[in-house]
Amino acid sequence: MMTNATQVFHVDPVHPDPIAIAAAAQALAEGRLVAFPTETVYGLGANALDAGAVERIFIAKQRPFSDPLIVHLADVAQLTDVAINIPTVAYALAERFWPGPLTLVLRRHPNVPANVSAGRDTVAVRMPAHPVALALLRACALPIAAPSANLFSRPSPTTAQHVLDDLDGRIDIVIDAGPTPIGLESTVIDLTQTPPLLLRPGGTAVDALRAFLPDLKTPDGPLITSEKESAASPGTLLKHYSPRGQVILLAGESQAALRFLHSAVPVLNRRGLRVGLLLPDDEAREVADLQATVLTFGSLREPSAVARHLFARLRAFDSLGVDVIFARSVDEKSARVGLGMAIYDRLFRAAEGRVLSVGDDVSDMDLLNQLLAYLP
Ligand code: AMP
Ligand code: MG
Repeated sequence: MMTNATQVFHVDPVHPDPIAIAAAAQALAEGRLVAFPTETVYGLGANALDAGAVERIFIAKQRPFSDPLIVHLADVAQLTDVAINIPTVAYALAERFWPGPLTLVLRRHPNVPANVSAGRDTVAVRMPAHPVALALLRACALPIAAPSANLFSRPSPTTAQHVLDDLDGRIDIVIDAGPTPIGLESTVIDLTQTPPLLLRPGGTAVDALRAFLPDLKTPDGPLITSEKESAASPGTLLKHYSPRGQVILLAGESQAALRFLHSAVPVLNRRGLRVGLLLPDDEAREVADLQATVLTFGSLREPSAVARHLFARLRAFDSLGVDVIFARSVDEKSARVGLGMAIYDRLFRAAEGRVLSVGDDVSDMDLLNQLLAYLP
């Protein structure tokens, strides 16, 4: 493993300095690792045609070699360099959604080393919409394999500081262009299956894809697979976005959630557990009397703001040293549409499936028992 310090290039997010971009592109061409901002999260890039460089991504991230990487392109014309048997609908989707947060799984071109796809005969591709990512991809004129630039199973990085927190000294360069605009990863769809299958909800609303893919198969809720099953659609592992404290998702109506917190938090306090609360602004105002560390993520009515802040807040709890984090979730209806689907998916995984549904039909006593069963 490298021991050199990671170089940080600060660039303007809209008009990045061409000299910095050229230096980063040169590093990529030489097989080195460069983290860069995309519109979703920061990615950790390597030359996708260089098996050795790709292997270094897995090592730097401590990512299992079974979890495939997304290949980033500067231009639709590069598709035929990395994929074969490309269906017409892939071009229609690219035309409508690229550059943007939509990843297409296609048949892998033999020129793309197998470790990019963790041995599969498929390859995931997308064209990112961030000016810095596009400038870098154009400057190096190579397909760039780039998973999120975090250590495996940590929340994805939405700032260069998050990248350094996880990977300082383990990668060559990070290009810092400020926080990423969307804050959640891309939507992934598999076009090699019939019917096509949603593998991960993300920055592109699934509802918008239906015009092109009327038969798109979407799982009912967050798709959670065991270590073994996850081979088919990696990234669906339950524990995929976990902060260090134990997250419990608190679903249901606002008043009921606040009432439950007022009975549950003192119980945890008495057990010596430090409590964190991840709440929308309006609910945060109602818990000042509780002994808990409170972080907010805007209004649940504004999913784009929630998405932008979610991972940063989960990371912040790590340094605050809390044991249990109650996180409020978007309501059931919002969890089925647009960004709400991706937000619920990430929160559910951060909570490793632990959900408490508050409401009039369930007593505080039952909820407390359910909570105690979840505790470490
Ligand atoms: P990351 O960029 O870190 O969010 O990780 C990329 C994710 O894209 C993986 O965890 C998978 O969920 C998905 N992915 C990438 N390549 C493939 C592929 N060939 N087949 C299925 N899913 C893929
Ligand atoms: Mg990732």
